[in-house]
Amino acid sequence: MVAEQFHEVQKRILTACERAGRKREEVTLIAVSKTKPVAMLKEAYEAGARDFGENKVQEIVEKYLQLPDSVRWHMIGHLQTNKVRQVVGKAALIHSVDSFHLAKEIDKESGKKNIITDILLEVNVAGEESKFGFCLEETENALKEICQFQNIRVRGLMTVAPFVDYAEENRQIFRKLHEFYVDMKSKNIDNGTMGVLSMGMTGDFEVAIEEGATMVRVGTGIFGAR
Ligand SMILES: *Cc1c(COP(=O)(O)O)cnc(C)c1O
Repeated sequence: MVAEQFHEVQKRILTACERAGRKREEVTLIAVSKTKPVAMLKEAYEAGARDFGENKVQEIVEKYLQLPDSVRWHMIGHLQTNKVRQVVGKAALIHSVDSFHLAKEIDKESGKKNIITDILLEVNVAGEESKFGFCLEETENALKEICQFQNIRVRGLMTVAPFVDYAEENRQIFRKLHEFYVDMKSKNIDNGTMGVLSMGMTGDFEVAIEEGATMVRVGTGIFGAR
């Protein structure tokens, strides 16, 4: 079941890439496995999944011991500073950096472990009250400040788009973030490390790909309803 759905999502990603005139290699599928048992993750792994997304530190800590080392773990949920220590060194990429304070903590813990941690800045493009992330207007300054840290590498931007009935409703959100991303790249604030745009979920990943996503985070579409 998981394998079939994984392949089906892969097929849809390929079609969206072709439609958008993009290369398939430009888009990474992250299998969002939060709340799902390890057995299902293993099924996805067998089907070819290597990138897994979790929104709780505890789940990464537990699951990462039970899957092969070739798995890349993506922290995609809101991260509290007191949990940073546990996730630094385990997550290949932290998508959800939503404050200077959090970035500072990640830098500190990375320094202690003598590693450089790859992060994305989360942007609340639609300005939803209920969501975490920098608002678009403050992201450039945040980027400038956070890029000064020695033990962090800002690899790009991430957004969680609003929950909508029709994917098309989020096209403008994705377009807006892509424009901003291109603008930030051109300013080279990050010394050229910015190459990731993480946007699009089960309901709207194809639209996100058409609008320039380089990572899509798909949970329900692969593992079923939570
Ligand atoms: C749960 C989650 C997803 C996946 O959502 P689906 O709609 O199940 O694909 C993607 N991104 C984040 C940040 C999430 O928390």
